[in-house]
Amino acid sequence: MMTTVDNKKMFIGGEWIEKESTIEVHDPQDNEVIATVPRANETDMLKAINVAKDGAETAAKMPVHERMEILHRAADFVKHYKHLYAITIASEGSKTITEAQGEVDRCIETLRISAEETRRIHGETIPFDQMPGHENRIGYFYRFPIGVVGAITPFNDPLNLVAHKIGPAIASGNSIVVKPATLTPLSALLLAEAFEAAGLPDKVLSVVTGKGSEIGDALVTHPAVRMISFTGGLETGTDIAHKAGLKKLSMELGSNSPTIVLKDADIKEAVDSCVSGSYGAVGQNCIGVQRIFIERPVYDEFMEQFANLSKQYTTGDKKLAATKMGPLISEQEAIRVEGTVAEAVANGATLLTGGKRQGAYYEATVLADVPRHARIVKEEIFGPVVMLFPVDSLDEAIEKANDVEYGLQAGIFTRDTKLAFQAIQSLNVGGVMVNDSSDYRIDGMPFGGVKGSGLGREGVSSSIQEMTEPKVVQFKL
Ligand code: NAP
Repeated sequence: MMTTVDNKKMFIGGEWIEKESTIEVHDPQDNEVIATVPRANETDMLKAINVAKDGAETAAKMPVHERMEILHRAADFVKHYKHLYAITIASEGSKTITEAQGEVDRCIETLRISAEETRRIHGETIPFDQMPGHENRIGYFYRFPIGVVGAITPFNDPLNLVAHKIGPAIASGNSIVVKPATLTPLSALLLAEAFEAAGLPDKVLSVVTGKGSEIGDALVTHPAVRMISFTGGLETGTDIAHKAGLKKLSMELGSNSPTIVLKDADIKEAVDSCVSGSYGAVGQNCIGVQRIFIERPVYDEFMEQFANLSKQYTTGDKKLAATKMGPLISEQEAIRVEGTVAEAVANGATLLTGGKRQGAYYEATVLADVPRHARIVKEEIFGPVVMLFPVDSLDEAIEKANDVEYGLQAGIFTRDTKLAFQAIQSLNVGGVMVNDSSDYRIDGMPFGGVKGSGLGREGVSSSIQEMTEPKVVQFKL
């Protein structure tokens, strides 16, 4: 069991492996080196894939009750060492200790749901006699595992997003090779420890640490890898989709999520919800609120309350329970966010609050009067920056909300169910949250986007569907 984060090994098919060549893992708060991990090369990745080919045979033969027990035991392990998991997330990433504890709870939930969904991987009988001449036939389809799953994960939820790949892969009888984000590999390695302790057979799981630019292609293009389950940015996802060849793709990509506030909404509820949805994980959140469209009669009231509450969303030491917001994942990222905001202001935007950077820290920032053509309106900011736009109608809000390349989730605040349903039908996204912000999610719901936000759905049972194929059985009587 790991007690300190220092020179870590990677996990290839049941063995902990070290390498001379390593990558430093930094705490973004002070840039201190907190650990090193092996810098895998293409040969290491090919070894993990070869091992996973054997692992896929083992996994497919594992009875459902064994898969369930392993997943529950892994969840128990994470629960038992909750503090260690939380401190690891809060050290290598941006999250405060409170946010990190929340992520550990969600990881436990994801593993438990995976265990429970294992018993619900059903097929269906097929009425062959729907076609004249096929009367004396009976049959069904059932779902079988796809084989080797390749998983690539981002830095912003370094534990739970890995659990969202490993949990469903094991539930559905697959083996899996995970390449975690280089900035935050420690939580993924710690999750491998949970599965090792839970008795997962060797070769079913590997966590290979290394740079995507160096070992990504070997995983993505390998013909034995039958599916790539990717969570990350649009650019990387598009590159992977071009290279992957004939295999399944699950793409959980970014967004610049909209939330609409209509004039009949409970303004305080909308403000509270949008503030936490905007600044959680320092805005480095694929469903974080980036664009808020507010009906004009309540615009001033919303703007004033939103800016005031944003001012209270201060930054501080991640390890202190009272801290609301930590640093961005790196100073470089904070500089990028600062530059994007400066560009918007130079284009005519008004800075209502925030806008200052110190190292990797960036203040909760609210912009108004942002011109429609500004880059920040179209792109994903992935930082603690929100734009407020007045609108004259729901139609205008929907038209503007949809006028981007992304479509992950949206929120709408209204007491009018007719208007809520109009928004549900017209917003081009993977999920509409009524009386909550775009940031609402539980781990057991289908989750994913349209357009540049991705392909396929996660949420455990949806992932299981993606990680299995139907096999048809027919008996001629
Ligand atoms: P990223 O830069 O796209 O990296 C994601 C992963 O891809 C990392 O593990 C990265 O490895 C790897 N990678 C990079 N180049 C690769 C290549 N050529 N081949 C294979 N893998 C490669 O994204 P990020 O900055 O970590 O995460 C932020 C993005 O993720 C945002 O856009 C956010 O919206 C999105 N996201 C989406 C969801 C969702 O569920 N829809 C959830 C969370 C985050 P290295 O770290 O080694 O570069």
